[in-house]
Amino acid sequence: MNIRYQPVRVSTMAFGFVCVVCLLLVIMDVALSWNARDQQLKEMREETTNLAHAAAHHAQSTFKVTDTVLFGMVERLEFDGTGILQMQRLHRFLQQQLLEQPHLAGLFVYDEQGNWLTSSQAQVSYNLNNSDRDYFAWHRTHTDRGPHIGKPVISRSTGLWIIPVTRRFNHDDGSFAGVVLASVRLDYFSAFYNSFDIGTAGAMSMVLDNGTLLVRRPFNPANIGSDMSRSLVYQGYRHSDGSGSLVVKSFYDGVTRLNSFQQVEGWPVFVAAAFSRDEILAEWWRRTLFHSLGILLLVSILGLAGTHLVQQINLRARAQQDLMKAHRALESINATLQKMAAQDGLTGLANRRQFEARLAEEFARAAREQTSLALIMIDVDFFKRYNDLYGHPAGDDCLRAISHAIDDLVHRPGDLAARYGGEEMAVLLPNTDLTGARVLAEKFCAAVRALEMVHAGNPASFVTISAGVHALTPRPEQEAAAALVQPADQALYHAKESGRNRVESTPANT
Ligand code: GH3
Ligand code: MG
Ligand code: MG
Repeated sequence: MNIRYQPVRVSTMAFGFVCVVCLLLVIMDVALSWNARDQQLKEMREETTNLAHAAAHHAQSTFKVTDTVLFGMVERLEFDGTGILQMQRLHRFLQQQLLEQPHLAGLFVYDEQGNWLTSSQAQVSYNLNNSDRDYFAWHRTHTDRGPHIGKPVISRSTGLWIIPVTRRFNHDDGSFAGVVLASVRLDYFSAFYNSFDIGTAGAMSMVLDNGTLLVRRPFNPANIGSDMSRSLVYQGYRHSDGSGSLVVKSFYDGVTRLNSFQQVEGWPVFVAAAFSRDEILAEWWRRTLFHSLGILLLVSILGLAGTHLVQQINLRARAQQDLMKAHRALESINATLQKMAAQDGLTGLANRRQFEARLAEEFARAAREQTSLALIMIDVDFFKRYNDLYGHPAGDDCLRAISHAIDDLVHRPGDLAARYGGEEMAVLLPNTDLTGARVLAEKFCAAVRALEMVHAGNPASFVTISAGVHALTPRPEQEAAAALVQPADQALYHAKESGRNRVESTPANT
C-alpha cells in the first residue's frame, strides 16, 4: 500500500514546495517594495518639512522687517503729528525706506477718513481714499495696536498684487487717527517659492490663520485671497500644534500631494510645502517594476522547472506502477504455467511428472517417519472397445468423467490423484494403510459404475474400472517403483484376471 501511495506523495510535495518557494519570493518582493515605498515617503516628508521651515523663516523675517518700518512710522506720526511739514519729512523717509526694502511695493499713510496723507510715491496722490479697504475698516473698529496682515489686493498705485501689512495710529487721546500701510510685493514670495526644486507638480503656499490664501506656487490670480478653510491642509493645520505632514488631494487642482505645514512664529500665518505623490513615487515605481519583472522571470523559471520535475516524478511513478503490474501478470502467468506443467491437460488431474515427484517425496517421508503409504492403480475396463464403439472423442469424455468421479473422493490434503498414462490413473495416499486404501478403491469402482456410462463392449453393460492396491511402511533402502508401484500394478493385473470391475491388493509387507 505504501509503495503505491509514495510516488503520488512525492509529486504533491514537489508541487507544494515549488508553490511555496514562488509564493515566498512574491511575498518577499512585495514586502521589500512596500518598505522601500514607505522609506521614500519618509525621506520626502523630511524634505517638505525642511522646505516649510525655510519658507516660514523667510516669511517671519519679511514681516518682521516690514513691521519695524511700520512701527517707526507710527512713532513719528504720533509724536510729530500730521502737519504739512511733518508729512514732507515723512515722505522723504518713506521713499528712502522703499529703496532699502526691495520686498515692499509702497508705504502709505491714511487719516481717520481714509484720505491719503503721504506715501513713498515720488508724486503723492492726495485725492485718493482707501477707507473702503478691509484693513482700514478693521483698524477703525479695533483698538489693537499690533500689526495686521490683510487679504491680498491689486495695488491702486502700482497695479501689482500686494499683501497689505498695516498698523493703526492714534490721536493723543487714544482715538483712531489713521492707518499706516506697507504693501508687500506678492511676487517677492512667488520668486522665493520658485527658487526651490519641488518638481513640476509641487506646490508651496502661505495662508492666513483664518484660511485666506496669501500666495501660492503655482501662481493663479483666481486663487489669491480665496478662502481655503475647507481644505484638508487647513483642517490639518487647525488640528495640529503648528506643524505637521499629511497626504491629501489638493483643494485647488485635485493633485494628491505630500504636504508639510509650519506656522510662522509670531504671525497669524502658516506656510505649506508639498510634493506630488506621483512624482515622489515615480522612481520607486520604476524600481518596483524592474524588481517585479525579475521576480516574474524567476517564478516562471521555477514554475517550469517544478512542472518538469513533477512530470518526471509522475512518469517514474507510472513506470513503477506499470512495472509492478507486469510483475504481477508475470507471477500469475508463472503460476499458471507451473500448474499447467504439473497438470494433465485432458483430465485436470496431476500429470505423470508430478506423480513421480510426489511419489519419491512421500516415499522418503514415510520411510523417515515410518508411516504407511498406499497406492491405488486404476485401469478402465475394455476401453479399447469403448473407443472403437463410440469414437475417440467420446473416449476422452469418458476419461474426464471417470477422473472427476475419482478426484471428488480424494479429500485429504496429502492425497494425490494423477493420470498415470493412457486410461490408467494412480492415487497416492500418505498415512493410509491397505485396508483404508482398499475402502477408497472400492468407492472409486462404485462411483464410476454409478455414472452409468453405457458400454456395449463391457459385459457389465456400463463403463467400469479395475483397481490394484498396495500399501507399505517403506524401509530407507527400498525403491518406490519396486516396493510400491509394481505390487500395486500386480494387484491391478489380478483384478483384470479375476474378471474386472473390482479391487485387488497385494498384502502389505508390514
Ligand atoms: P482391459 O480391460 O484389459 O484394460 O482392456 P483395454 O481395452 O482397456 O485394454 P488396454 O488397457 O490395453 O487398452 C488401452 C486403450 O485405451 C488403448 C487406447 O485406445 C485407449 N486409450 C489410451 N489413452 C487414451 C486416451 O487418452 N483417449 C482415448 N479415447 N483412448 C485412450
Ligand atoms: Mg490400460
Ligand atoms: Mg484398460
